[in-house]
Amino acid sequence: MSNFPSIFNDVIGPVMRGPSSSHCAASLRIGRLCRDLMDGQINHILIEFDPEGSLATTHKSQGSDMGLFGGFLGWEAFDERLQSSEQYIEQAGIQVDILIVPVTASSHPNTYQISLSSTNESHRMVAISTGGGMIEVISIDGETVSMAGDYYETLIYCTSPEKVKAYLSSVFEFDSVEWHPGEKPFLEIKAQQFLPENLCHELVAFPEVQCIKKLAPVLPIMARKNLYVPFITCEQMLQYNEDKNLSLWELAIDYESERGKVSKVEVFEKMRAILHIMENAIQLGLKGTHYEDRILGSQSLQFRAQLQQNRLTGGNANNLIIMYVSAIMEVKSSMGVIVAAPTAGSCGALPGGIIGMAESMNLSEDDKVKGLLAAGLIGVFIAAHATFAAEVGGCMAETGSGGGMAAAGIVVMANGTLSQSLAAASLALQNPLGLICDPIGNRVEAPCLGRNVMAATNAVSCANMALSDYNHLIPLDEVIETMKKVGDEIHHTLRCTNLGGLSITKAAKAIEAQLEEHSPVFFKVC
Ligand code: SF4
Repeated sequence: MSNFPSIFNDVIGPVMRGPSSSHCAASLRIGRLCRDLMDGQINHILIEFDPEGSLATTHKSQGSDMGLFGGFLGWEAFDERLQSSEQYIEQAGIQVDILIVPVTASSHPNTYQISLSSTNESHRMVAISTGGGMIEVISIDGETVSMAGDYYETLIYCTSPEKVKAYLSSVFEFDSVEWHPGEKPFLEIKAQQFLPENLCHELVAFPEVQCIKKLAPVLPIMARKNLYVPFITCEQMLQYNEDKNLSLWELAIDYESERGKVSKVEVFEKMRAILHIMENAIQLGLKGTHYEDRILGSQSLQFRAQLQQNRLTGGNANNLIIMYVSAIMEVKSSMGVIVAAPTAGSCGALPGGIIGMAESMNLSEDDKVKGLLAAGLIGVFIAAHATFAAEVGGCMAETGSGGGMAAAGIVVMANGTLSQSLAAASLALQNPLGLICDPIGNRVEAPCLGRNVMAATNAVSCANMALSDYNHLIPLDEVIETMKKVGDEIHHTLRCTNLGGLSITKAAKAIEAQLEEHSPVFFKVC
């Protein structure tokens, strides 16, 4: 993850199918980079997972294989063929072997060591999944690299770099160039575009040059040399705003526009597109979802029936939110398209809270976009100074973050002040501190649904407390700092390991055994 997170790279997104952003979407991105390294020509793939890492036991059940295969085939993370990617790989004539062997290239628990070959060439890539769909390629052909998929990467395989570098410096603008000597030496060029075809033709005529590889970016927002953001803490944001008097959603636009070097209008429209996907997930969920391999059915339909008959207690907004959160979670569990916000496991709380509240207030589409932008900026502060990964910070990091983000967005939609937006986020993040991650049956369905509902309704309560000027006492930056510290202190059995909490109850173990017996695919995710 970048030190300067992007709302669309690190916080709201990827748009994806599958139970886990850190497994399904991340592995698909790694697979796409592998495909580019081989120019799309692959006959055989050897995937190695370390027995001590988490992927050795979860690569199939958490959807890593599914995503990798989709990536090898060049698909998007939302491709509707993903659940059958294994069959498609076979049909494409690509032989895949998976071995559990010591991998010394990295000690990260989510390490992929991948050897690729065709009739003409072979390459090796080592990459890690760092959470929320983000990745880093750490080695290519035995040489240390650092690729997050946010540049156009041109690799020029050549025997000596000097002549090639001198030539490139005079004809091509790049962000960085690095020489990787070794068994298969190459020059790595990071740039805002690929080396144009005419220059590639000239280069391959050099006697030193063997071949040129082009690895396309897999993230929506690019990085660049001398990347700058206007602020990275809440305190800095308030200083930045001293002479501007901007709302939280406008500050989000300023941040993301500078972070990605994209126009303010483009940031707004990108978030509108995200909103449409979230709304579509709600509509899909409320039509009823069907998927054999899951624990819970389409409960949002029962909820809607009760709501329509006025048989539910509490306010209408609250119940609309519960219904929307449920519908989105049901779409996720049935391999439908969702937006990880901030993760796939917590994909219901933020959109359910923002869209449900906006509809109950009869707000416009633009108002919903503003709410999401404000939420996204709170997520940037969390991504920069704490984590969204349940393996690191428990459920507080996932649904807790989603609730804190939603609270700020709701205040913005209610025309609250900037300080009320920040107070709402602070209050909503204080409540789930220490919340553990203990999925039942080793799946992201329960208690995940309830935790998402709790986060969304917590967001509404905290937004209303902030709008009434309740004193939140602890500044947002300090609450986020505390999230990080508390996460570090949560025992590992309570951080998405299936070793504690509800995961080890008698009932949960019975559900797990039943699932494994009938459909041993796509177990838990975070
Ligand atoms: S309980 Fe764990 S898997 Fe479920 S939403 Fe929370 S963090 Fe994700």
